[in-house]
Amino acid sequence: MIKDNSHAKIAIDGPAGSGKSTVSREVSRRLKVPYLDTGAMYRAITLKVIQQKVGLDDLEALDKLLGSTQIRFGEDSKVYLDGEDVTEEIRKPPVNELVSPVSCISSVRRHLVAVQQSIAGESGGIIMEGRDIASRVMPDADYKFYLDASIEERAKRRCKEQLEKGIHLSLREVTAEIKKRDRIDSQREDSPLTVVEDAIIVDTTGMTFIEVVDNIIEVINEGMR
Ligand code: C5P
Repeated sequence: MIKDNSHAKIAIDGPAGSGKSTVSREVSRRLKVPYLDTGAMYRAITLKVIQQKVGLDDLEALDKLLGSTQIRFGEDSKVYLDGEDVTEEIRKPPVNELVSPVSCISSVRRHLVAVQQSIAGESGGIIMEGRDIASRVMPDADYKFYLDASIEERAKRRCKEQLEKGIHLSLREVTAEIKKRDRIDSQREDSPLTVVEDAIIVDTTGMTFIEVVDNIIEVINEGMR
């Protein structure tokens, strides 16, 4: 039994473009519970794989890379890879294209899941966002949300997000990329994207960001009563 919201362990899973990151950040701000974007960790590893030109079948080199990599989160959701700010770099097309194949590699998942579980264990309460949080990383979470939205809406959101960063992508391009990532993420052998039995499914299609946040906070507050 949790005493208050600040001790809650909250899992937020869902496919690309379902709004997980923005929603999780705002829920974190309102509940004053720290937030961990696990997708950013897979993205940071992917960036390093690209920088070091490591082949995805070179498991020995990958193990070495994992063992010598430090990922840190700073103020304003900044992401640091071995001390360098990579917040923008990890959201760019080269990483978007390779992140799902990298995330299928068992040693990568084992490594990051262990780091994430240790962060969850040390924290009083936490909001963790990803694909396998309820199913693998925090199966004992107090609240398990699964955010979803239609492919059209998710693609539109991604396009807008990228445009705000000055990256112009066509809706067709983004739809194809999201569909490909959805397929790889949900079909991989090791902890695929799934909806766990006790998840609360929130279809965010047609909902504003604030409506989704309010909905989640209402469920959590209700659980406290
Ligand atoms: O959430 P985001 O779209 O930034 O995640 C990028 C990719 O990282 C996903 O498409 C997925 O392949 C991988 N990922 C994962 N498990 C997580 C979080 C992300 O496999 N817990």
